[in-house]
Amino acid sequence: VQPKTTFARSKSANERKVGHCTKVPRSNNMESLQTGYLFPEIFIRESEHMRKNPHARLIKLGVGDTTEPIPDIITSAMAEQARALSTGRGYRGYGPEQGDAALRTAIAEKLYQDTGVKGNEIFVSDGAQCDISRFQMLLAPNVSVAVQDPSFPAYTDSSVILGRAGKLQVETGKYGGIVYMKCRPESNFFPDLSTTPRTDIIFFCSPNNPTGSAASWQQLKQLVEFAKANGSIIVYDSAYAAYITDDSPRSIFQIPGAKEVAIEISSFSKLAGFTGVRLAWTVVPEELSYSNGYPVIKDYNRIVCTCFNGASNISQAGGLACLSAEAYKALSNIMGYYKENTKILLDTFASLGMKVYGGTNAPYIWVHFPGLSSWDVFTEILEKTDIVTVPGVGFGPGGEGYVRVSSFGHRECILEASKRLRNYYK
Ligand code: PLP
Repeated sequence: VQPKTTFARSKSANERKVGHCTKVPRSNNMESLQTGYLFPEIFIRESEHMRKNPHARLIKLGVGDTTEPIPDIITSAMAEQARALSTGRGYRGYGPEQGDAALRTAIAEKLYQDTGVKGNEIFVSDGAQCDISRFQMLLAPNVSVAVQDPSFPAYTDSSVILGRAGKLQVETGKYGGIVYMKCRPESNFFPDLSTTPRTDIIFFCSPNNPTGSAASWQQLKQLVEFAKANGSIIVYDSAYAAYITDDSPRSIFQIPGAKEVAIEISSFSKLAGFTGVRLAWTVVPEELSYSNGYPVIKDYNRIVCTCFNGASNISQAGGLACLSAEAYKALSNIMGYYKENTKILLDTFASLGMKVYGGTNAPYIWVHFPGLSSWDVFTEILEKTDIVTVPGVGFGPGGEGYVRVSSFGHRECILEASKRLRNYYK
């Protein structure tokens, strides 16, 4: 049965092999996943559209992949590291699993000033997405989980894969074992914590993907107090922190007491255009412990050593270069370019009389189409304007009626998208 509020299963996801099959059973948890992962599913729709319309000039404002070149100062550092690997003096094999000390220190000093975060609490990795799943591996099988609704799908999907999401309720599109914290415009996209049940883990993303909203100081203080009162751990995803333009906190660790209740996952992907290079980090504070007092950082270290083996030394050289003053300025200019794109798209939808959210503190805008199915809106925009967006419901049932539009793109594509949207919706 196809859940009403979710997206249709693609043909390929339903395909079963005919002929010889092994005797290995499929994991029940994998069977429980609603569909293919959202973004590959969009790619399938996009490819089908291109097959039917081979001459369409597609504009991709969907997945949210960076498009602008990485500054030379950063790629030169990576090239130099790569060339050094061909020399006797410069060759290096396995590095420390936790990341190069210089990079860990630089992240702590440059991105966590005045928060008390230390280099040894930073674990460098190959991606925030990987860290979301790896963190879940160290938790007991029966821990309970809360997610913002809507939110980045990896939190829910990795919880399903690890068997802690319960059964999918077809009518609501929700997993019975997950607490969905409704985040709507009426409450500035912050959940009502007074009615939120206690869970062990609270995934919280700010600035939020997909709504583009950043939690305020007061909201994050409330969240930290809530976690402390309930003995919960917050998994705070700050992958878009560098896009904040107002005075919202850039890290959960700016909130007093957060080191006792939170870990933070972040990434070079959107900060430095490293979506293909792959580099991220997770902060696990020494103060964070399980109910029996055992430090979480020790288990995290164990997971990193067992299930990962350290990020590429070439990527790490790039990451270190990103944090120099000159490179950071160049990166800020690129983020400024994407922010200008965001403004063009925000103005476009607003001028058409649509309700738009986000955009100020994130490279995403969240457009409301009241009463409509978000997959229908996605399909209409794709078919009528050759523009790819993301249907809001792919981020959870609370995303129904919305589409997310990414502002990662070359300026000429953004301007062309604006023109097509204005023509179609005028
Ligand atoms: N967290 C959020 C909120 C994201 O939107 C993304 C990617 O879009 C990620 C994590 C994944 O980041 P990475 O490229 O480091 O795996």
